[in-house]
Amino acid sequence: MAVTDAARGGTATAIAILKQRFGERVQTGEAIRRQHANTVTWLPNEPPDAVVWPTSTDDVREIVELARTHRVPIVPFGAGTSLEGHVNAPYGGLSIDFAQMDNILTVNERDLDCVVQPGVSRRKLNDYLRDLGLFFPVDPGAEEATIGGMAATRASGTTAVRYGTMRENVLNITAVMADGSLVRTAQRARKSSAGYDLTRLMVGSEGTLGVITELTVRLYGIPEVTLAAVCPFVTIEGACNSVIQAIQLGLGLARMELLDEVQVHAINVHSKLGLEERPMLFLEFHGTEVGARDQVKLFEEIARSEGAIRFDWAEKEEDRRRLWKARHDAYWAAKTTWPGRNGIATDVCVPISRLAECVLETQEDIKRSGIVAPIVGHVGDGNFHSTPMVDPDNPKDIEAVKGFLERLAARALAMEGTCTGEHGVGQGKRKYLKAEHGAGVSVMRSIKAALDPLNIMNPGKTIPDL
Ligand SMILES: Cc1cc2nc3c(=O)[nH]c(=O)nc-3n(C[C@H](O)[C@H](O)[C@H](O)COP(=O)(O)OP(=O)(O)OC[C@H]3O[C@@H](n4cnc5c(N)ncnc54)[C@H](O)[C@@H]3O)c2cc1C
Repeated sequence: MAVTDAARGGTATAIAILKQRFGERVQTGEAIRRQHANTVTWLPNEPPDAVVWPTSTDDVREIVELARTHRVPIVPFGAGTSLEGHVNAPYGGLSIDFAQMDNILTVNERDLDCVVQPGVSRRKLNDYLRDLGLFFPVDPGAEEATIGGMAATRASGTTAVRYGTMRENVLNITAVMADGSLVRTAQRARKSSAGYDLTRLMVGSEGTLGVITELTVRLYGIPEVTLAAVCPFVTIEGACNSVIQAIQLGLGLARMELLDEVQVHAINVHSKLGLEERPMLFLEFHGTEVGARDQVKLFEEIARSEGAIRFDWAEKEEDRRRLWKARHDAYWAAKTTWPGRNGIATDVCVPISRLAECVLETQEDIKRSGIVAPIVGHVGDGNFHSTPMVDPDNPKDIEAVKGFLERLAARALAMEGTCTGEHGVGQGKRKYLKAEHGAGVSVMRSIKAALDPLNIMNPGKTIPDL
């Protein structure tokens, strides 16, 4: 099924034609190709044969047409921040880099949505929207992540508990499909019951069904007041129980991030925040002046009854930014704290009622395995990340971490959770899909075979081999 070595001659021809057509916008140098197969796992770097930079949907159509004619694999590329080998090119082929398709096309202020090209980064979009009093909330931490890449991985992050993930925030997608057709998955209406939901099919498809060339996403008004706090707890259960109660009461917390004591230590080393090294919640409340302060009061009461030691408020904009920057830098904090080690970022997600149990069992596993693995979690969604810090020169450490990652995914599945809440499948998590979806994997294979019979769209990703 995969496009394999038989197609290599076709690749050389396709690249020669592309060079004639796109000139400098096609590159074959090794450094550039390797950079486009970035992976922060221990999956080996598998570079494409060439990188091409389209500037329009028509360019993308031409590239896909050429790839189809010559049976050449295509790997769409946003910013390359995905974590599971998504942009690797195991069968070679063309990396389509969207850096030059990064325009914000229309902002519909009254409808609270905007139309963008896939290469626009979330940072650029939010910088643009700020003066309009609007923002795009989905926040995967990596500021340079693109809206196209985020849609393709069904990304989320710290604000999902309040604003949802890319699943809820993409209204429609325009994509070039493997047969060269241009498909728009929906109109701009907020909801629709007209036929199969092709938008949801494309969101999370990781470049395996089509190449996204335009998206409409939802926007929100910047809240009147934003309050942030850090809150250390005696136990992880206390932190998780506070969050569950807050959700049950319908408190509008915009961010609730859990950090275990190991991650708080790393943040102290890296960002010098001087936090108490205990299980901790980083919190953010959005609302009106009165509404936000009422929520804060209620949450404080709940948290204190669950063993919160105290609340440290960051009311000033600069303190808030410092706090969330430290949270977003969690991965880099771990790299600073354990230099010379590679961080293998992984995530799982469980029903929120099982979160404390899952985190505690995971911490026990980390101790038993003799590894270092800080934990952070988007606790309001039951989603947490563990980042084992691996010594690449120590085979015993590598084996211990491999075993830990397998057990982590199995534990989440046993608790009716998923092997990945937001990072996606790529290459690294294909092996868990059968255990998670059972016969559903055959349905996915049928969809893939129907839409991409030549298997040119990001082959070797998402769906496990037979
Ligand atoms: C430090 C760090 C922290 C992170 N934290 C989070 C987090 O909290 N939450 C989270 O969700 N993720 C997180 N991530 C992962 C990453 O940021 C997301 O997966 C992000 O959505 C990837 O966006 P990108 O533009 O870099 O996409 P890429 O990495 O370039 O691509 C990702 C996938 O999307 C496909 N793709 C890209 N563009 C298109 C297109 N135009 N059409 C079709 N397919 C396309 C690619 O082929 C690939 O399969 C983190 C990453 C890092 C490095």
